[in-house]
Amino acid sequence: MWPRKRFDIRLRDIAVGVVHCLRGVNRQKARKLLESFWAPEGDGLAFLSVRSGFDALWEALSLPRGAEIIISAVNIPHMAEIIRRHNLVPVPVDLDLATMGPQLDLLPGVQTDRTRAVVIAHLFGGQVAMEPILGWAQRHGLLVIEDCAQAFCGREYRGHPQADVSMFSFGSIKTATALGGALFRVRDPELRQKLRVVEERRPVQSRFKYLRTLLKYAWFSVVCRPVPFAAFVAGCRLVGADYDRIIHSAVRGFPGDDWLLKIRHQPCGPLLAMLLRRLRTYDYSRVARRAAKGELLLKLFAGHVFCPGAHALNRTHWVFPILVDNPVEVTTRLQQSGFDAARTHSMVVIERADGQTSLPEAHRLLAGLVCLPIYPEIPDEDLRKMAGVVLASQPPRPVLVPSAHPVG
Ligand SMILES: *Cc1c(COP(=O)(O)O)cnc(C)c1O
Repeated sequence: MWPRKRFDIRLRDIAVGVVHCLRGVNRQKARKLLESFWAPEGDGLAFLSVRSGFDALWEALSLPRGAEIIISAVNIPHMAEIIRRHNLVPVPVDLDLATMGPQLDLLPGVQTDRTRAVVIAHLFGGQVAMEPILGWAQRHGLLVIEDCAQAFCGREYRGHPQADVSMFSFGSIKTATALGGALFRVRDPELRQKLRVVEERRPVQSRFKYLRTLLKYAWFSVVCRPVPFAAFVAGCRLVGADYDRIIHSAVRGFPGDDWLLKIRHQPCGPLLAMLLRRLRTYDYSRVARRAAKGELLLKLFAGHVFCPGAHALNRTHWVFPILVDNPVEVTTRLQQSGFDAARTHSMVVIERADGQTSLPEAHRLLAGLVCLPIYPEIPDEDLRKMAGVVLASQPPRPVLVPSAHPVG
């Protein structure tokens, strides 16, 4: 069975991380090396996670209470919650499901004189065209923050050069994961300095905690190979356990009600060293190979299945989402055919506090979303088989109703 996800890290990397944890690493030095390797321009900053840096950002900015932050309507729940915890108001803007960017014509309507910033998420491994958004934001003096957590594809792309802040995640399910950590670029030196001050006041993550994470994922990455995974799924079914829930809760970073306290830490030396190692030694051809697999699926589905983000730029297919009317049936059929497609994912529709705006596209996306397994190890032959299962489970499309006045 092809598991939904393959942790994008080798046991070798984890072993090196374990050694770093046991020996200890000079944290200041590791941070300097990492940040200058990531951004030789000098605008790089490392954090424990994207959420940690995003939280530090609002503290550093100290915007007036009630300031509004426009945000792409779909993201992980913590991102909107972090904005709220700083007494700011996330204002969602509905998505264009073809590009996964915000619908540009909605932007002026959600902007008020309290708007201070806009947060754009590049979802599913593609990129949103930033120029029109940047132009609009600059005209209104808004800060532009890019959430590139799902879009890491190598150092050639480190966010749009004109965005104020670009954030990349190396959490466990992300491309080239370090099992934690995030890298930002912050263009304004003054804001960068403020962020550093916030960061340096935070306690440092315990390296033994990171060691535990490494060991947990060493085990996971073995389980998440086709044969052991099939056995794991069969075992769970045998004892009546919901393997979907087990996986989902196991890979969640910062679980629990005290997540905000947990994210407010600096990364430990071994994590910083691991991040640098990943940037330096990651096999970037994996991204190209995964992207090619995704493009093959797009071709197979063209005209038959709606693929959100099919018109995004530089698609690297971090995940391969499809939008169907019968997600339960499609998922079941795929699983019966050996493809661990998943309906569970960590994203939600970000609602307005006053429930004012309707977000039909965002809701439509999350209601019918199925994520297909996609990574370089799956042979094209199996991808074709998977596409066949999806196509066969699609009800015939409603055809145009014939004219009420038949000719002749
Ligand atoms: C994973 C993810 C995050 C959070 O990244 P962490 O480094 O785990 O905090 C934020 N936004 C999006 C869109 C993500 O996919």
